Amino acid sequence: MSGDSEVRLGLVLPDVLGTYSDSGNATVLSKRLEWRGVPATIVPIRLGEPVPSSLDLYLLGGGEDEAQALAAAHLRAHRGLQEAAARGAVVVGVCAGFQVLGTSFVTSGGVEHEGLGLLDATTRPGERRAVGEVVARVDSLLGDEPLTGFENHQGNTTLGPGSAPLGEVVRGVGNGDGSEGARTGHILATYLHGPVLARNPGLADLLLEWVLGEPPKPLALAEVSALRRERLSGVRFGHRR
Ligand code: GLN
Repeated sequence: MSGDSEVRLGLVLPDVLGTYSDSGNATVLSKRLEWRGVPATIVPIRLGEPVPSSLDLYLLGGGEDEAQALAAAHLRAHRGLQEAAARGAVVVGVCAGFQVLGTSFVTSGGVEHEGLGLLDATTRPGERRAVGEVVARVDSLLGDEPLTGFENHQGNTTLGPGSAPLGEVVRGVGNGDGSEGARTGHILATYLHGPVLARNPGLADLLLEWVLGEPPKPLALAEVSALRRERLSGVRFGHRR
């Protein structure tokens, strides 16, 4: 965290990685900090601008193939995100953001693009586009709180030994091999939109714990609990796809 105890949240390239409302994840983190009395600022970083390396947490959202290729090229050229990650800043990628954080991704036209290499993950187009609700079990990170979200992607992602999956898919497609998301240290990524942190407050607070260095005070929000109950109704957790 910065010396003045304000948390600075980087919203990375919302002009190209903002198609799926993932910018809402920055709003969720900012509000959850504000409700705990911790000041927070959202710092948008747009295409063509330098990428500051001094922020506490960086969020990358989803986008179309062309847009995500532009994002990857910009972030490869401006090294701020990689420098921040190297000193332990928290980085969260959703869908296209996930693919950009990996080592490489192939877009639908068959072109291979270099990623940032912050996750040991490669992405190739799958046979069918994955669209729909997802539920994933993520025991080791969030106890018994499953992740819920919405996916809309062509890419299938394979993890190497340098990254662990976030969890296993109970409903939906996720990475394409029964796993969902990826994590290496404080670099975390998922296929789930929603925005994912609005739908999964436990994940939002885990990220804040990484930033603050201690668990944030519990918050009970009836609307969030109701949304989770609705999204999890009818899901059988004993069942693997
Ligand atoms: N363009 C990527 C794909 O289709 C990511 C899509 C997204 O971010 N929802 O796989």
